[in-house]
Amino acid sequence: MEKILISSCLLGLPVRYDGKSQAILHPQINLWRNENRFVMFCPEVAGGLATPRPSAEIRRGRVVTCTNKDVTKEFKTGAAKALGLCNEHAIRFALLKESSPSCGRNTIYDGSHSGIKIQGMGLTAKLLMENQIRVFSENQIPALIKVLAI
Ligand code: SF4
Repeated sequence: MEKILISSCLLGLPVRYDGKSQAILHPQINLWRNENRFVMFCPEVAGGLATPRPSAEIRRGRVVTCTNKDVTKEFKTGAAKALGLCNEHAIRFALLKESSPSCGRNTIYDGSHSGIKIQGMGLTAKLLMENQIRVFSENQIPALIKVLAI
C-alpha cells in the first residue's frame, strides 16, 4: 500500500508558525489514517525552527522572515530531511499544505509580507517534485484519490 507524506499541520499538529494547526476536514483523511498510510512531517520544525516562529516568505530565492532574518538554511535542511524520509519509506506521494514557503504546492506568498499570493512552490514541495514524488495540496485530494486508485 502506498504511503503518503503529509504536512503535520494538516493532521492537527500545532506546528505552524503561529503555533496553530490547520487540520483538514475531509472524509478521505480518516480512511487513509485508518489504513496507516500517513507519514507526518513538518519541514520547518525538522529544519530546526521553533514553534511559534516569525512568518517567512520566499524572496528572490531566499527565505526571509517578517523580522528580516534569513532562514533559507533551515528551510533547505527541512526539505532535505523530507526527501530523506520519502526515500527511506519509498514514498511516492505527498499531501502538503498549500501556500506555505515549505509545503506550498501551487501558490506561495510573494515575499513582501503583505498577504499577496503568487504562483509558486515551497522549498520542500519543489525538492520532492524534482525527485519524482508527486505532490498534492489539501485542495487536490480528489486528484490524489484518483492516482492512488490506479
Ligand atoms: Fe505545516 Fe509545512 Fe508549515 Fe510545517 S512547514 S507548519 S507542515 S505547512
